[in-house]
Amino acid sequence: MRTVAIADIITRFATSAPKTYPVIDPVTGEEFARAPECGADQLDTIMAEANASFRKWSIDESVRRALMLEFAEAIDSARGELAALVAKETGKPLFLAETEPDSCAAWLRYYAGMDLPQTRVPDGQGSYVELLRKPLGVVAAITPWNFPLVLALWKIAPALRAGNTVVLKPSPFTPLSSLYLGEIANRVLPAGVLTVVSGGDELGQRMTTHPTPRKVSFTGSVVGGKSVAAAAGADLKRVTLELGGNDAVIVLDDADVPAIVPAIAAAAFLNSGQACALPKRVFVPRTLYAEALDAFVAAAQTMQKGMTPSEDRTFGPLSTRPQFDRVLNLLDDALAAGAVCATGGGSTRDSKGYFVEPTILTNATDELPIVAEEQFGPVLPILAYDHLDDAIQRANNTRYGLAASVWGKDLDQAVAVASQLEAGTVWINNHAAYAMNVPFGGVKWSGIGLENGVDGLLAYTDQQGIYVPQS
Ligand code: NAD
Repeated sequence: MRTVAIADIITRFATSAPKTYPVIDPVTGEEFARAPECGADQLDTIMAEANASFRKWSIDESVRRALMLEFAEAIDSARGELAALVAKETGKPLFLAETEPDSCAAWLRYYAGMDLPQTRVPDGQGSYVELLRKPLGVVAAITPWNFPLVLALWKIAPALRAGNTVVLKPSPFTPLSSLYLGEIANRVLPAGVLTVVSGGDELGQRMTTHPTPRKVSFTGSVVGGKSVAAAAGADLKRVTLELGGNDAVIVLDDADVPAIVPAIAAAAFLNSGQACALPKRVFVPRTLYAEALDAFVAAAQTMQKGMTPSEDRTFGPLSTRPQFDRVLNLLDDALAAGAVCATGGGSTRDSKGYFVEPTILTNATDELPIVAEEQFGPVLPILAYDHLDDAIQRANNTRYGLAASVWGKDLDQAVAVASQLEAGTVWINNHAAYAMNVPFGGVKWSGIGLENGVDGLLAYTDQQGIYVPQS
């Protein structure tokens, strides 16, 4: 049943366009589908439709709310197909892929129910100013491959609620689930309100330099984000940039090691380490180091058992060949420089697919690229520290500033440490927990702007002040 549904969808995409490109199965490393490649003329037409549609879509917010709820229902109905497409194109386990359509529907319902803030402030002369929030126009939304649907809806739901129309470009590695989302949207929403286009980085560049969109909302690498910022700046488009991270974890000396290590490891190896805000560097007091290392090794070894090409795998491959090569190169360099795999290190480099075992690294130094850069894979360096101030300084010694976490029993101390970390989000005794109502975004090179919550909605508006005279 599941295979048939996906096979039909995949065939339709392959035959729907004059030009297509291959989509690779990360489990086998082989082509399993073809996706339409959107050309420059087609993009012009789509942008024009999105612009024309904006005029109507922006008028009536009750219509928007109702249609967003219908869209959520339609996503619920297509949950199986959407999850199967995500699992196939990313390689992630099905149970993890299934969380994506669920989140999409939840995000749509959340924003459908949100009111646009409208405030009134005194004008200083006995009257008042009405502060309204107005939609921007067409939004170009550009997303990466690690959570194709969730990250798209973080943009689409608030953008549509505010009255904008959206052109979404998913990663060329994982276009299918987003294209199918676009089909579902077309059944429910007026034409041009949400259009999904697929293609490579150059299509993204074309979108950011295109004169029609008034905003670019981009999730991806720092390199991509800088390019988007430059292009958007030339046309004064608004931007939201959700970029990379290299999250530090600080374990405090009162931490209950057996209790916390499985939770840190579960977060670090979620989606095979491929998420922007996951533990990437763990700082442990030297006094707890041996105990903590043993516990990390045990946790990783449990997960290694789930690394299998079969459909019931609980630990997936890396999603793309470049990412697979990058993680293995960083690991090779680290081992050559004296780091040691306390467990793991195995991969399918001599066989099929892009699997890398959950790996715990010891003897690594902060300067090694696998520690200093965003490696975005299932290799977790465990680093010892002698003084807490030193750990904080080392955690902050990076251009990234997405997220971090602090683990310990004394919550006052944990909060004090958290407040010294240069990161947009810091969890205490937790990592990578998100809520729809909590704004999320990075500092430093990790991004500009916020997604989710009211701030996520305001990001798709401009303010208009209307000075109302005394009557
Ligand atoms: P990427 O920057 O290579 O690509 C992301 C998207 O941008 C793709 O659709 C790509 O085709 C497009 N693109 C690339 N260059 C572009 C350009 N110059 N102009 C316009 N579009 C362009 O990133 P990726 O490898 O797909 O994703 C992994 C990165 O995403 C990691 O750095 C990760 O940390 C980051 N990420 C951040 C968040 C967050 O919320 N902060 C969430 C998930 C992933």
